[in-house]
Order: sequence, then C-alpha cells, then structure tokens
Amino acid sequence: MKRKRGDLVGDLIKKKVFIYDTTLRDGAQAEGISFTVNDKIRIARRLDSLGVDYIEAGNPGSNPKDMEFFDRIKKEPLNHAKLVAFGSTRRPGIKAGDDANVKALLTANTGAVAIFGKSWDFHVTDIIRTTLEENLDMIRDTVSFLKAEDKEVIFDAEHFFDGYKANREYALKSLEAAKEVGADSLVLCDTNGGCFPSEIAEITRDVVEIFNLSIGIHCHNDGGMAEANSIVAVEEGADQVQGTFNGYGERCGNADLSVIIPNLQLKRGMACIKEEGMRELSAACRYISEIANLPFNERQPYVGRSAFAHKGGMHIDGIQKSRHSFEHIAPELVGNERRILMSEVSGRSTILKGIQKVAPSVSKESEETILIMDKLKQLEHEGFQFEGAESSFELMVRRALGKTKTFFDVKDFRVLCEEHWQNDYSASAIIKLGVDGNEEIVAAEGDGPVNALDTALRKALEIFYPQLKRMRLTDYKVRVLDTTRGTAAKVRVHIESTDGERVWGTVGLSSNIIEASWNALVDSIEYFLYLNGNDKGEAGNI
Ligand SMILES: [Zn+2]
Repeated sequence: MKRKRGDLVGDLIKKKVFIYDTTLRDGAQAEGISFTVNDKIRIARRLDSLGVDYIEAGNPGSNPKDMEFFDRIKKEPLNHAKLVAFGSTRRPGIKAGDDANVKALLTANTGAVAIFGKSWDFHVTDIIRTTLEENLDMIRDTVSFLKAEDKEVIFDAEHFFDGYKANREYALKSLEAAKEVGADSLVLCDTNGGCFPSEIAEITRDVVEIFNLSIGIHCHNDGGMAEANSIVAVEEGADQVQGTFNGYGERCGNADLSVIIPNLQLKRGMACIKEEGMRELSAACRYISEIANLPFNERQPYVGRSAFAHKGGMHIDGIQKSRHSFEHIAPELVGNERRILMSEVSGRSTILKGIQKVAPSVSKESEETILIMDKLKQLEHEGFQFEGAESSFELMVRRALGKTKTFFDVKDFRVLCEEHWQNDYSASAIIKLGVDGNEEIVAAEGDGPVNALDTALRKALEIFYPQLKRMRLTDYKVRVLDTTRGTAAKVRVHIESTDGERVWGTVGLSSNIIEASWNALVDSIEYFLYLNGNDKGEAGNI
C-alpha cells in the first residue's frame, strides 16, 4: 500500500503510547493560571472525552481544593481516563505510614498514585540533605506502602537526566529501588528542561535496555525542546508520555501534548488517543485556554488558527492544486481548518472560493463575482483589510448576494463619555433596537465607549438570543490608516471573538473610532448568529 505523506494509516499502528496529562497539576503551576475546582472538573471531563489515559489532578494532602476535586469527580466518574493523585516520597527518618502527606494520597481514593523521588545525588545530599542510602529507602518504603494499598504506582524520577549525567550508577539505583518493590512504571524527568534530544535518546535507550518495565518521559521546555525530547524518548522505547495541553507549566512550561499526540499518532502510527478525540484536538486546546484564561497561541503547531493559514499567492495557488504542496497534514485530522487569507496578495480564485462558500453555484465569470470583485476593490481602496477578518468578508458577500437574514435592527445608539469623580465607569451607552417587531431600549456602563456599547448591545440582544452569553471578545485592535491627518485620520478596527471553541475575526472602518468599532462589533454578533443558525463550525473557513 502506498502511503501518502501525513496520512493516518490504521494498519501501521505500531504500539500504544499512554498519554499522561498533568495540566491540572504541573500546568496549574504556570504563571498566570489559577484553576478553581469547577475549572478542574471541566478540563478533566474534556480530557477524558479526548481519550487521555491518565489525568494527574493534584495533591489531596497539601491542597484542600485538590481534595474537593477528588470528592466531587467521584460522584460522576470519568469514562476512560484514570485519575492520579500526586505526591512525594516520605520525609527522611520516618516510616511512610507515619508521613501525613503520603497517607493523604490515599484519601483521594484513586486507582493510581504518582510519587516523585530524588534520582540526582546532588539533590539528595545538598537539597533534602540526607544520605544517598536513606533516599533509596524513602523510595522503597513509599512505593511499597502504596503497593500494599493496591495502588498502581507511577514513580517519577525527578531530575533523572541531570542525575544520570552526574552519577549514572546512583540514578539507576533510584529506579531499581522503585522497581524492586513493585512500581508499575518508571518516569524519567527532565525537570530543569535543559537537555538535548541526543542526550535524552541515549539515556532513555540505556534505561529501556536495563529495566523490563513501562518507562515514561516527563520533559520541561526550558531549552525549547520539550516536545522533541519526549518524542525521541518514545522512539527509544518509552511508552508513557507526560505533558500538559498547550504546554502550560512552571517557567517555560511542560512538553505540549497537543504537539506530541498528533506527531506520534499521525506521523509515527502510534496509538495515543481515540480518533474522534484527535478530530476534537483543536477545539479542546482552545477550550482549555479559555478556562485557563490565557490568550491562545494561534501559531501553535497543529491546533493554532494560523497552523493552516495560507497567504502568499504562490502558496494559495499550490494548495488549491494539491494540499501536500504546503501542508504537512490534512487540517481536519486534528479538527483544524485551512484558511485562505484575504489580502491583496491573494488572487481571484481565492476570492471566488470565499464567494462560493456562500453561493456554491457562482462561477468565475458570473455577474455576481464581477460585482463582488469590484466591491472588494473599492473597500480595499477605502482601507478595509479582510485578512484575519474573514467573517466580515463573508457577511459582505452575503449582503452583495442578498443572502442575508435580519437578526436585529438597530434604530439608534448614543454614547456618553464623562470624567466622573470616584467612579470606575467612564462611559455609558443607550441602544434602541428591534427584533421581529419587538423594540428594546437598553442602557449600560463600561470602561470606555466601546465596552459600554458592547455591553448594551449584548444586554439588549440576549433577551432575544440567549446563546450570545457564550460569545465574548478576545481581541480589539485599532490601526490608524492615514497618519498625516492626525486625529481626523481614518481608523480600522479589528475584533476577534470566540464562543470558547471557535474564533472569528471582523473589521470596521471609519474616521470615527466609535463607528468603526461598532461596525466590527455588529458584524461579529451577526456572524455568531449565522453560525448558530446552521451550527457547522465553519467560522472563518473561507
Ligand atoms: Zn514537571
């Protein structure tokens, strides 16, 4: 069978790689992230539906929020993923059964427990300040205590690679200590995240040859190589990959599972998650970033909005002849989509594709095409730019073709900006609008005129379209076009909106910044209502 580059070929599946997610534990340690218990539950359910095998959810002993998580999730168990409680080996000089933190791990009542222990001699002697022999006892004692409780025990060898480089024999002894009392898997951690792929490969190969046990890999991204490091470890025989979604984690983050999973499954034929899960990958990553309340990295490989966005005329021409010309995989495999960016460098055929999305029967020579081309030329001349604002382009095509639906009709709006004493709000807006003959007048305050307008518009529309509660603005950019005209210059406002799973861009243009913002805002809401009318998830897919 001839294999096309980047295609998933079922019969080439070589091995199962267990995906171990630590977004809720290591990811929660990222700067700017603070998950509530509810957030954690929502993320865990989403990871479960992707088909992730393990979800490390925290330490019930040191954190009451984590305990609440374990209590609550038990009431509605996950379908596939195993929950894992996370903690360290016992303290020096006491029994594991007398260590409150080790005992607390049992209260989470999970089938699996991850224990981290020292494998770098320097950390044993200089950081936790005990003897090398006592550290091995701490590992043996803690693992055997948990095995006696019938737990699946995952031993995380902290700083394993740095430890191996400093003292190979001792690093291997720490793994042996866990193995001899029944640890189920040994996880090699690049805790400081500074190793090179060649080092990870060589060391992992050595460990795999010595230990006849499941080997995991846990990499941090301080050298920008966490994903490559994880992948070479799997190629050398590791069968468990630990990481986080979107690469969240301490300092520069953890290995990003949303990069590792498609690489292993689509390019190496190794089974990581369910195929349906793979098609949900892009939406899931965006969902997690929404809950984490961090801006999504649109240049993220595989799942970012720019991952399959084509702009240059030659590229667009190529991609329309064969997707292999400028794409490493088919975007649908990871639930992403190809975007052809509308700009002066994109040719006539690109624009035609955009038009055909609304009216498939329109041809290159149709009257409608010529009309829309002329309109587009005129709008670009005025200063419109539809790159990144494909939704406004689609609405423009709809309007030109008469394929519009009136969701609402704005009769009037007013904005008032004032300097108040001791008042947080600086602006208020009043909007009068109608939906199907019903009129509403709504007022709202905001931090500035655009925020006040946005708030008032939604307040009015949510009465008729409650689904708008799911939508919010994620980005607002203003660009001054003819700078020589100073404050009378024309401005272009670009807005990006999301409903938590999809993202779309709209544009507005005027010499009045409020009007430009308003137009972009109205387009954004109108587009959302179109999406909701025929919920096909086609946002921006022109
Ligand atoms: Zn870590």
